[in-house]
Amino acid sequence: MTYTHIKIPQAAEKISVRNDKLRVPGNPVIGFIEGDGIGPDITRASLRVWDAAVEKAYGGKRKIHWCELYMGEKAAGLYDGDYFPQESLDAIKDLVVAIKGPLTTPVGGGFRSLNVSLRQTLDLYACVRPVRYYEGVPSPMRRPEEVDVVIFRENTEDVYVGIEYASGTPENEELSRFLREKLGAKFFDKAGLAVKPISPFGSKRLVRKAIQYALDHNRESVTLVHKGNIMKYTEGAFRNWGYELAKEEFSNDVITEEELYDRYGGQQPEGKLVIKDRIADVMFQLLQLRPTEFDVIATMNLNGDYLSDAVAAQVGGIGIAPGANIGDHVAVFEATHGTAPKYANQNKVNPSSLLLSGVLMLEYMGWGKAADLINAAYPKVIAEKFVTYDFARQMDGAHTVSTSTFADALIAKITGSSEDLARFEQERRAALQRERKEREAQRMANPVEAMKASGRQPTTAAGIMSAIVSVPADAIVEDAMHSMRKHDISSILVEPHSDGQWGIMTQRDIVTKIVGANKSAANTKVSEIATKPLITVQPDLTLPMLSEKMASHGIRRVIVEDKAVPIGIVSETDLFRIVEEFGWDVEE
Ligand code: NAP
Repeated sequence: MTYTHIKIPQAAEKISVRNDKLRVPGNPVIGFIEGDGIGPDITRASLRVWDAAVEKAYGGKRKIHWCELYMGEKAAGLYDGDYFPQESLDAIKDLVVAIKGPLTTPVGGGFRSLNVSLRQTLDLYACVRPVRYYEGVPSPMRRPEEVDVVIFRENTEDVYVGIEYASGTPENEELSRFLREKLGAKFFDKAGLAVKPISPFGSKRLVRKAIQYALDHNRESVTLVHKGNIMKYTEGAFRNWGYELAKEEFSNDVITEEELYDRYGGQQPEGKLVIKDRIADVMFQLLQLRPTEFDVIATMNLNGDYLSDAVAAQVGGIGIAPGANIGDHVAVFEATHGTAPKYANQNKVNPSSLLLSGVLMLEYMGWGKAADLINAAYPKVIAEKFVTYDFARQMDGAHTVSTSTFADALIAKITGSSEDLARFEQERRAALQRERKEREAQRMANPVEAMKASGRQPTTAAGIMSAIVSVPADAIVEDAMHSMRKHDISSILVEPHSDGQWGIMTQRDIVTKIVGANKSAANTKVSEIATKPLITVQPDLTLPMLSEKMASHGIRRVIVEDKAVPIGIVSETDLFRIVEEFGWDVEE
């Protein structure tokens, strides 16, 4: 391909796509668009940091060869007033990966945002916004470190496609007449009208990308966010198509939240991703109050627009939030803020949003080691209160530095002891894993509370079972009683002896078989008084059937078993609590 103003570096290779996979050479060409306003300042600073991280991470064996592409005001100067030159679009497709600073949208009728045009022209259908906290960054939250989500926002549908008819225009009048006369729609006169298309194709390819990302990055869940309770055939359909896609294409890798409780009692099976959904309005509250419950989020354009900025505010605002627009392989990474023209060429603003978009880009290329170095160096510089003006005004005792000095400080950390930095990032990941396990333990210890929090009602044995506590068959009754007291439980499971059968010892056994029979609890083994065999049920047995089974056997508790191993216990008290708490309304 020949270009007029774009110069592809000769000593480099292009990134390519083979067998549906990105193939990144050690010396790739990557396109960059410096953007308008503050764009050149933040791009100059970020390029130096990315290069330093790659050099340090790979000891000079890998190197990015940057290729400048033009859009916005710089392009208009070069291409005869064209802000959006075709050859830049061709080059992005050719190079597969590019990164851009912010672009001005000239105010005035008929001019479409360049950012929106770029996404639509290149069919970059997923806007990806990871939002995580870097220690030391000023935040309005008490525990901002709990936020670590990646939002996948659909880029090509919804009200943003711009099918809109202004009040009083002939098109509006024609559409109004059609809606009223043919479809019986009712609305006020002179209403402006917009169309909100949501398709199975658009929804599914977005959800596919979100699920694939979650699986590739060992994430815990994907939450489909929608307003389907009101807009059933657009937002509600997005939710349904999302679940449908998960089942059609990822059935071995995912379970639904319903299955998590109804089948697995809150314990996430190893290697399975949970797919769940939440109504958009409550999601804003949940992301502030209980952010740890969310991981990857997939949503339509308008919800995603609001949600990304709102969550970004929790960890330091859009000045720091990175972003990417990704299609089928072609990806453009970008700062999420605008051109802040009043600060142009002052070497003053925060380069973090673009800089961290570059981290996302390095991860996308599979150059995680370089990304980790920046991720680890970043909080260290912030911790030293070495920050640009925007962070400084929110921090006590900060040293306000310029854009380029901030980059220098980062490079000094990156080129310092990389072992320390690598360990720092590994420790952060290990802490996230520990928190995930703690959440799971809490879910399993009190599945009813967890289920209430997720807005569901239990319907199966696994949904209400409590974790079991067991003792070996030759344990002494007195010791087992201490264990029951310690765990505040009224029964304990007895592990199999040579007969291979599990048993159960209850408080009632102590009354009848120890006290009533005048035996010594200190000289009796649990296997002597345990009841066998256990009455068991499958995890997905419904609550009415479970109750019927308990009644027909005249027992007060039943063991939930999976593949012949007890995994939980349900008692009459548990059933009582469910009915009292959730009610038991049967549709006649
Ligand atoms: P903006 O450029 O994002 O700036 C708004 C304010 O945000 C700035 O005045 C500044 O706040 C703060 N800010 C933004 N970037 C910052 C940074 N890197 N470091 C520190 N502070 C930063 O929004 P706008 O003024 O509404 O938009 C200006 C132009 O940008 C418009 O033409 C718009 O269309 C365009 N835009 C482009 C993109 C994009 O390319 N993706 C996105 C949004 C807007 P203080 O004044 O408080 O210091």
